[in-house]
Amino acid sequence: MNQFDYLIVGSGLFGATFAYRATKAGKKCLVIDKREHLGGNVYCENVEGINVHKYGAHIFHTNNKQVWDFVNSIVEFNRYTNSPVANYKGKLYNLPFNMNTFYQMWGVTTPAEASAKIEEQKAEAVAALGHREPANLEEQALSLVGKDIFEKLIKEYTEKQWGRSCKDLPAFIIKRLPVRFVYDNNYFNDKYQGIPVGGYNKLVDGLLRGVECRTGVDFFTDYKKNWRHVADKLVYTGALDEYFDYRLGRLDWRTVSFKTRVEDFPNFQGNAVVNYTSHDQPYTRIIEHKHFEMFGQAVYDCPKTVISEEYSTEYKIGMEPYYPVNDDRNNSLAEEYRKLVADEKDVLFGGRLGQYRYYDMAPVIEQVLNIKDI
Ligand code: FAD
Ligand code: UDP
Repeated sequence: MNQFDYLIVGSGLFGATFAYRATKAGKKCLVIDKREHLGGNVYCENVEGINVHKYGAHIFHTNNKQVWDFVNSIVEFNRYTNSPVANYKGKLYNLPFNMNTFYQMWGVTTPAEASAKIEEQKAEAVAALGHREPANLEEQALSLVGKDIFEKLIKEYTEKQWGRSCKDLPAFIIKRLPVRFVYDNNYFNDKYQGIPVGGYNKLVDGLLRGVECRTGVDFFTDYKKNWRHVADKLVYTGALDEYFDYRLGRLDWRTVSFKTRVEDFPNFQGNAVVNYTSHDQPYTRIIEHKHFEMFGQAVYDCPKTVISEEYSTEYKIGMEPYYPVNDDRNNSLAEEYRKLVADEKDVLFGGRLGQYRYYDMAPVIEQVLNIKDI
C-alpha cells in the first residue's frame, strides 16, 4: 500500500486540475515540479503591483461552458478581450483579420468591397491549388486572405515564431486565426474569455489547495526509478521524448525567451499585445502586462508598467520546451512515441509536453474534466 494514489509530475493546468479532481474524489496526490514554483506556464510574478506572465501572455478562452463554469468556480474571471495590434514597419493593423484590417490595408469600407479585394488577392493561389487542399501554411494563408496580408502580417512573423519557412509548416497553424467581414477586433471566436481576477496564481492556488506539492524536484533524478513505491499511479506532464530517454530520437520544440523591463511611466503601448510582423525587429511581440488586469483609470493609478519583448528560438537541451513543432518529422516521431505510451502501465500522459500537442489552456482542462475514473 503506497502513501499516495497519484504522483503527478508537473503543476501546470493539466497536473493541477487532475490533482483537484483526484483530491475531491478522496484520492491522495503528490504533485512535483522541477521549477521553484507551481502553475507551469501560467505562473505570474508580481512586479510593481503588476502580474507579469513569466512564461508568455496567457489569455483564457473557450466555447465550452463546463470548462468556463469550472474555472470560474475556482476564481472569478475578468472581462479582458484580446485585441492585439500588428506593427508592420511602423504602420499599425488590427488583428485578427477583420474589416478594420482590410480598411487599414486597402482603404475598403464595406464587406462587399473587402471580399472582392480578398478574392482578387487570393485568386492566383486558389487557381494554383485547383481542387487540392492547402498542403502547408503558405498555401493556406494565400488561399485564405491573399498576398498583401500574407506578406505584411503573416510571413515574417511566422518565420520569426517558428524559425521555418511558411512552406514547411502545417496549414492548421494559421487556421487558428479568424477572418471576419465585421468590425470586430476580438482575437478569439470563443464565447468566453478573460483573465483570473488577481492573476493566474489564484487559479493554481485554488486547484492545489490542500494538495501536497514539492517544487524544485525533478522526476528523472528523484522519482523515475522508485515512483511505484511512492504512488499507485503516475500522471506525467513533462516532455514525451524525455520520459522514454529519447530512445527514438529527440522531438523538436520552439522555445521563447523574454526581455522584461520596468518603465517609469504608466502606459507604454496602450494595449496588452503588439505583434511585430516584419523582420526589422528580432522579437515577435511586446506584451504590456498591466493591460490584462487594469482598465480605464486603473492603468494610471499604477505609476509604472512592465513590458516583455518575446523572442522565439529553437529549443536546445537545458532550455524550456514551449511549442511542439508540427512538421512531418516531428509529427511522425511523436506518433512513434505515442505507441510506446500504450505499454506504460498505470501512467497517464497529459498536457502540451506530455502529449506533444499544441494545446491551449481550456482543452487541457477539458481533457482532465472528461477523464472518467479518477
Ligand atoms: P505546463 O504549464 O507546461 O506544465 C508542465 C509542468 O511540468 C511545468 O511546470 C514543468 O516545470 C513540469 N515538468 C516538466 N518536466 C518535469 C520533470 N521532469 N520533473 C518535474 N516537473 C516537470 N494557452 C491559452 O489558452 N491562451 C494563451 O494565450 C496561451 N498563450 C501561450 C503562450 C506561450 C508562450 C505558450 C508557450 C503557451 C501558451 N498557451 C496559451 C498554452 C498554455 O501554456 C498550455 O496549454 C498550458 O499551460 C498547458 O498546461 P500543461 O499542464 O500541459 O503544461
Ligand atoms: N500569426 C501571424 N501573424 C500574427 C499573429 C499570428 O502570422 O500577427 C500566425 C503565426 O503563424 C502563429 C499563428 O498565426 O503561429 C497562430 O497564432 P496565435 O496567436 O494563435 O499563436 P500562439 O502564440 O497563441 O500560439
